[in-house]
Amino acid sequence: MSDPLNERDRAADALEMVAGAARAYLDSLATRPVHDHAADGLLDLLDGELSERGEGTLDSVERLLRVGTGAATHSSGPRFFHFIVGGSTPAAQAGDWVTSLLDQASGLWLTSPLASRAETVVLRWLKDLFGLPASYGGVLTPSATFANLTGLACARQWWGERHGADVTADGLAGLPRMPVLAGGYIHPSSRKALQLLGCGRDSVRVLTRDDAGRADVAAMDRALAEIGGPAVIVANAGEVNSGDFDPIGELAELAERHGAWLHVDGAFGLFAAASPRLSHLVAGVERAHSVTADGHKWLNVPYESGFAFVRDPALLGRAFGAWGAPYLPAADDEHINYNCLGPESSRRARALPIWATLRAYGRQGYREMVERHHDLALRLGAAVEEAPDLELLAPVRLCVVCFRYRPPGVPEERLDELNRWIGERLVADGRVYAGTTTYRGMTALRPAIVNWRTTETDIDLLLQVIREIAAETLTRHR
Ligand SMILES: *Cc1c(COP(=O)(O)O)cnc(C)c1O
Repeated sequence: MSDPLNERDRAADALEMVAGAARAYLDSLATRPVHDHAADGLLDLLDGELSERGEGTLDSVERLLRVGTGAATHSSGPRFFHFIVGGSTPAAQAGDWVTSLLDQASGLWLTSPLASRAETVVLRWLKDLFGLPASYGGVLTPSATFANLTGLACARQWWGERHGADVTADGLAGLPRMPVLAGGYIHPSSRKALQLLGCGRDSVRVLTRDDAGRADVAAMDRALAEIGGPAVIVANAGEVNSGDFDPIGELAELAERHGAWLHVDGAFGLFAAASPRLSHLVAGVERAHSVTADGHKWLNVPYESGFAFVRDPALLGRAFGAWGAPYLPAADDEHINYNCLGPESSRRARALPIWATLRAYGRQGYREMVERHHDLALRLGAAVEEAPDLELLAPVRLCVVCFRYRPPGVPEERLDELNRWIGERLVADGRVYAGTTTYRGMTALRPAIVNWRTTETDIDLLLQVIREIAAETLTRHR
């Protein structure tokens, strides 16, 4: 075996082996548990010493398929409700295979005009889908974390320029701390971005109205007046615990009045813009200076997929381009080199699955999916409200339902432990996946519905399994 050159005739056979396993696997997703813990033992088949001679192409792919289809968390199926994890639409999944088949070096036009052109096209389509002005610049990223990094790097560059500094060239030394304001909905990934940018994870001034974390716009107004110079507001379109939204329009107005930068993290919530019924939740996002969202969440494109949009396209080039390496194209190259517009250098052609899914289902397909998920969330919310043993903790805004088990007769001080236990048992059970968070100091379940395969049956099963486990837990704890 050894040298892959000896196996060149196996390349297509290996892909056929994967395709051959795909039908049975995809068909199984409708009914199989999200996680079969009995299959965890298969993981040992990954282990062992590095092979000396190599086991060969087909042997390795066969083993990977056996372990993978058995021991994976089947989160691309319809009943993974923990965190906010999307699936893969049929077109996106196949588009991702094409991406691997073609294996493009997608940072430079020179190495892949295909990837560069596809990226330009899908960025335009996404701006259209989200109601963002066509004039915005953009770049595809591996995730919303990287998209937040991209948007906030542009904010930092803008802020530095307002202080007469070029942060890209000279760093932050000698500058004051960049003021960052947010409500309590700010996601840890925005803090991570700020920590990577040298602005400090804890530089965010969080101003809230209540213990849910709703933004205190009046306090932000006063703080911006006090700062008196350029500052950054981080707003969240969709918060992961309750699914609530910051008042984007009010924050846009505030940013305009104070000359501040408005960054909107819309990792999943930006998809509300795809529905006329729900777009009011993100009204004003078209006035933001930078906007981020995920492809691997609600667009239902395989991991890793995110996007960043920036109102002033030139800032992307100033924040990320101009490396000065003589073998790389110049910043004014007539073709777009996306590695000069974002934090990555070499990257895969992640535009291709996005292109495939947007072309396949169009604006209407995404509108219908987002609205179906919203309706399912409302259905679950209503069932929770009607149930004497469940308590809805926050109104259902979009696709997240935040609630807890609260049977009559159990004292308040035992509820956190009880709900934590239910969350752990749900994951161990594996039929549906949902887990707990802390919301307003209470341990709560917060299933999110963002997978194209999910239907009413799955939602009803979620409730049924929660009930079963809760009853079991309660008898044991009495
Ligand atoms: C998921 C999420 C992120 C981070 O996204 P990754 O794709 O995991 O990097 C950021 N913000 C919000 C609101 C999210 O829901």
